[in-house]
Amino acid sequence: MGSALATAHAQLATAAEILGYDEGLHRMLATPRREIHVAVPLRRDSGETVLFHGFRVQHNVSLGPGKGGLRYHPSVDVDEVRALAMWMTWKCAVVHLPYGGAKGGVAIDPRGYSLAELERVTRRYTSEIMPMIGPDTDIMAPDMGTDAQTMAWVMDTYSVNRGYTIPAVVTGKPLAIGGSLGRGTATSAGIVHVTKAALAESGVPLDEVSVAIQGFGKVGSHAAEIFAARGARVAAVSDQYGGIRADDGLDVPRLLEHVRRTGSVVDFPDADSVSNTELLALDVDVLVPAAIEGVLDETTAGDVKARWVVEGANGPTTAAGDALLAKNDVTVVPDVLANAGGVVVSYFEWVQANQTYWWTEQEIADKLEHRMTTAYAEVSALAKREGLSLRDAALVIGVKRVAEAHQIRGLYP
Ligand code: NAD
Repeated sequence: MGSALATAHAQLATAAEILGYDEGLHRMLATPRREIHVAVPLRRDSGETVLFHGFRVQHNVSLGPGKGGLRYHPSVDVDEVRALAMWMTWKCAVVHLPYGGAKGGVAIDPRGYSLAELERVTRRYTSEIMPMIGPDTDIMAPDMGTDAQTMAWVMDTYSVNRGYTIPAVVTGKPLAIGGSLGRGTATSAGIVHVTKAALAESGVPLDEVSVAIQGFGKVGSHAAEIFAARGARVAAVSDQYGGIRADDGLDVPRLLEHVRRTGSVVDFPDADSVSNTELLALDVDVLVPAAIEGVLDETTAGDVKARWVVEGANGPTTAAGDALLAKNDVTVVPDVLANAGGVVVSYFEWVQANQTYWWTEQEIADKLEHRMTTAYAEVSALAKREGLSLRDAALVIGVKRVAEAHQIRGLYP
């Protein structure tokens, strides 16, 4: 079993125990409803043919269509996709979305392929999984290694095969074809909303904290931008090539320009270099892991000095890492709550596409903030009432909403 799946299963087992669920219900919640494994052959620009493996997993569809990203990363395998799909189920339930959880992935390193090759991979993968996806069955969005352009290709392939334009089959698509204002920054804006709410519980204002962010992609870079714009000091950031730190705070707009030019945060002037592991242990107030799974484990979590860990990535903390953070009184705002802003605005995008009526950016920003702060308040209230961590409280809320839907709907036949 992959480590992300082990983490997801351990978290569910804890929630099921707190909720007093029997083995049958626990097993049903632990098992994906449907999975597909597809071969994705690619004719390279050179004429050579190579083959990739692709997956789509619908973990649960009791509350509505499956919803979840599409990941392009060399380490994608079916267990990782299963874990990510399960987290989507709980996440959608925590923020009250009428969705189940799903996820897809192709085991490919997108950096090694031309745009034309990535388009062919995306179109072939989409046509292979066509029977499983649709605006009422399973809706994709960008994740690691994919972006708005990828979603445009998915939407076009699906629509061409159906014979008419179906924007609601994906979210996170470009504005020109029915994307939503605010979707590009939604996950990061949500991270900042919940960080502010968590800090407020200790009477700490956002503009007095220092932040370190691991991962400088769609989530991490916009989080840095929004934290800095709201007055927080972004003291360190990293990507897969390495990290940089400046204890007085990085100049984030200049850093974004540097990344646009060079493709990495590395070698940014006026900053010292720091490794990805060192970044996790920096003496900052808030640590935002926003890259990959499993980085806070039994070897790294004990060194964390931040008082708050806000999980931008999915599954950045293993069960052993979680125990060490709890022992050291680090407050962890869990992924299923902290990074839910992306799927919230994906939902807004889907609603807008279904009603073909678009909202203003301000409407979307206000609705997002309301959803995130309400969800944080619900999770925090349960945590306080029952003496739970924020993670256990969020999972209990998410798992219970899904289990209730199962029970009310009944078991067919
Ligand atoms: P992305 O591909 O845009 O960026 C990923 C970043 O992580 C890049 O900066 C990359 O260099 C860095 N990275 C990759 N491997 C690394 C490693 N081994 N060490 C350090 N850095 C590494 O992806 P993203 O969309 O920003 O997603 C990041 C995380 O956030 C993922 O866990 C994803 O599932 C999660 N997430 C994304 C969204 C979204 O809306 N995009 C929503 C919720 C959760």
